[in-house]
Amino acid sequence: MSEFTAPLVDMRFVLEHVTDVAALTSLPGYEHADPETVSGILEEAGRFFSEQFAPLNRVGDVQHSRRNADGSVATPEGFSKAYQRYVEAGWPAVPFPAEYGGGGFPWLVGVAMQEVLTAANMAFALCPMLTQGAVDMLLLFGTEEQRERYLPKMVTGEWTGTMNLTEPQAGSDVGALTTRATPAADGTWRISGQKIFITYGEHDLADNIIHVVLARVPDAPPGTKGVSCFLVPKFVVDDDGSPGARNAVHCVSIEHKMGINASPTCVMSYEEAVGYLIGEPNEGMRYMFRMMNTARLSVGLEGLAIGERAYQQSVAYAAERRQGRAVGAPAGQDSPIIDHPDVRRMLLTMKAQIEALRCLAYVNAECLDYAKAHPDEDVRADRQELADLLTPLSKAWGTDLGVEMASLAVQVHGGMGYIEETGVAQHYRDIRIAPIYEGTNGIQAVDLVGRKLGLRGGDAMRDLLATIAAIASEATAAGGDLAVIGEQLTAATATLRDATEWLLANGAADPNHALAGATPYLRMAGIVTGGWLLTKAALAATELLAGDRNGFSDEFLRQKVITARFYAQQLLPQAAGLAPAVTAGATDVLDASF
Ligand SMILES: Cc1cc2nc3c(=O)[nH]c(=O)nc-3n(C[C@H](O)[C@H](O)[C@H](O)COP(=O)(O)OP(=O)(O)OC[C@H]3O[C@@H](n4cnc5c(N)ncnc54)[C@H](O)[C@@H]3O)c2cc1C
Repeated sequence: MSEFTAPLVDMRFVLEHVTDVAALTSLPGYEHADPETVSGILEEAGRFFSEQFAPLNRVGDVQHSRRNADGSVATPEGFSKAYQRYVEAGWPAVPFPAEYGGGGFPWLVGVAMQEVLTAANMAFALCPMLTQGAVDMLLLFGTEEQRERYLPKMVTGEWTGTMNLTEPQAGSDVGALTTRATPAADGTWRISGQKIFITYGEHDLADNIIHVVLARVPDAPPGTKGVSCFLVPKFVVDDDGSPGARNAVHCVSIEHKMGINASPTCVMSYEEAVGYLIGEPNEGMRYMFRMMNTARLSVGLEGLAIGERAYQQSVAYAAERRQGRAVGAPAGQDSPIIDHPDVRRMLLTMKAQIEALRCLAYVNAECLDYAKAHPDEDVRADRQELADLLTPLSKAWGTDLGVEMASLAVQVHGGMGYIEETGVAQHYRDIRIAPIYEGTNGIQAVDLVGRKLGLRGGDAMRDLLATIAAIASEATAAGGDLAVIGEQLTAATATLRDATEWLLANGAADPNHALAGATPYLRMAGIVTGGWLLTKAALAATELLAGDRNGFSDEFLRQKVITARFYAQQLLPQAAGLAPAVTAGATDVLDASF
C-alpha cells in the first residue's frame, strides 16, 4: 500500500529560490515567517499529515462517507479522531489572521501545507479547503459582529464551512440559481431552496457547520446581478457563542461518486432556514469573484498533490517490479522496469510536471500575499494582476496535468495499476473531479481569454511575456546546459506571444474565435509558464552549485537542471503544436453538426 513522504527538499527549494519566502517577512504582519520557521512548520506538517491522514486515504475510498436514516452523515473510520488531533495540534489556524486566533502566516505557507495535506488525503483535505472559502468570505465581506461570532471557531477548525452555489439548473451558470431569501422581522433572513453537490455539507467531524449560501432576495434582478450571499449555520449560534437551536438545513442525500469517496457530497435542503446577509444584497457574485483566486489555486494544487503522490508510488513500484532485460544489463537477469527508457520517460515527465506545477502554485500564492499585504498600492495592484493571470493556469493546467500524471502512474504500474489494491487507481479516480469543480476547466479558459487577456488592453499578458523572455535570455547567455533551455524557452515564448496577439485581435472582432481557441490557449500558456519557472529554478540551481549550496546536495541541484532541460526540450515544444488549434477560429466548431 502506498506510503507518502512530503517532498520537503523541493518545497524548500521552490520557497527559497523560485519564490522568495524570506522577502515576505518584510511585509507587515509576516515578520515572524522567516525561512527557518517556515521550514520547521513544513517539516512537522509533513510528518503529521503523512502519519495521520495518508493511511486513511484508502480506508476512506473503501468505506465512503454515509448518510444515516436520521440525516446525519458518518465519515469513514478514523476520520473524526484524526480531525480532532489536527485541530488540537493547531494546524487549521496556521495561515489565518492572528486577530482571530490564526498563526498569521502568508498564504504561500498555507499553500505549501495544503499541498502536503492534499497529497496525504485529498478527500479529507476538502473539508479544510471549503472552510477556508467560508473564512475568506467573512474576512472580506462579513460585519465585525459576524467575524467575531464565527471566525475564531472556524479558524481553529472547531467549526467547518461550506460553499453552496450549485443547484440542479445552476452549475457553470451560477446566475440561474433560484434559492430564495426573504427578510424576517428581526433583521435575519429565511433561506429556502435546494443545493446540490455540497462538499462536506453534513458530517461528524465538528460541532457546527457554517454554510455560505448564494440566494436571491425579493425583487432581485435576474442572473448574476441578483445573487446575494448568506451565512446559514447548522446550529444557530447563541449570544454566548455556543451552538444553539438546530437550523432548518438538512442533508437529504449524498452522491455516489467516481472518487473522493470519503468526502460527503451532499444535496442540501433549506426550508426557511435562519440566515444572515453577508455584505450588501445583490453583490454576491462580486464577492465570489474577489475570493475565487484562493479557492481556484487550492483546487489547482490538487493536481500537483495527487501527481506527487502518484509519482512517489510509481517510482517505488518501478524500482521493485522486474520485467525484461534492459539494454546493457547482465544476461539471464530481469531488470527492474525503472531501467527501461520508456518507463524512465514516464517518470521524468511526471517529475518535470510536478516541479513546474509546484513553482506555479507557489508563485501564484506569493502574488496573492503581496496583493494583500504590501504597503504600496501600486505593488499590490501589480501582484493582483499577475495573480489574476496565473490563477486560471494554476487551476486548469494544474488539474489537467494532475489527471494525466495519475494516468501515467497507472501506466507505470501496468495491469496492477488497473487493480484497486495498489491504490494508484484511486488517485486517478480521485483527481478526475478537479478539472470539473470550482469552475470547470472550460470556464477557466473562457475566463482567461475573456477577462484576463484583456487586462490593460492586453498589456498585463504582454508584461508577463516580457518577464518570461528575460529569463530565457538569461539562460541563453549563461551558456552550457542552460543555453539549450533558454533557446527553447525563447521559441515557446514567441509562439505564445503570437497566439496572444491573434486572440486579442480576432477575439475582439468575433468573441467566438477566442472562445473556440480558449482551451488550447490556456494549455499553451500553462506549458510556457511552466517552462519559465523551471528555467528560473535551473538558473538558481546552477548558481547554488557554483557557490554556497544552502543545504541542498549537489545531486539534487544537478537534477534540477536535468529536469528543466528535459522539460525544455521535450515538453515545452508542445506549445507550438497547439498554435494551429488556438488560431483556427470558430468556423469548423460552429459549422459541425452532431
Ligand atoms: C464532487 C463534487 C463536489 C462539488 N462541490 C461543490 C461545492 O462544495 N459547492 C458547490 O456549490 N458546488 C460544488 N460542486 C459543483 C461543481 O462546482 C459543478 O459541478 C461545476 O461548477 C460544473 O457545473 P455543472 O456540473 O452543472 O456542469 P455544467 O455547467 O452543466 O457544464 C457541463 C459542460 O459544459 C461546459 N460549459 C458550461 N457552460 C459553458 C460556457 N458558458 N462556455 C463553455 N463551456 C461551458 C462545462 O465546461 C462542462 O464541460 C461539486 C461537484 C462535484 C461533482
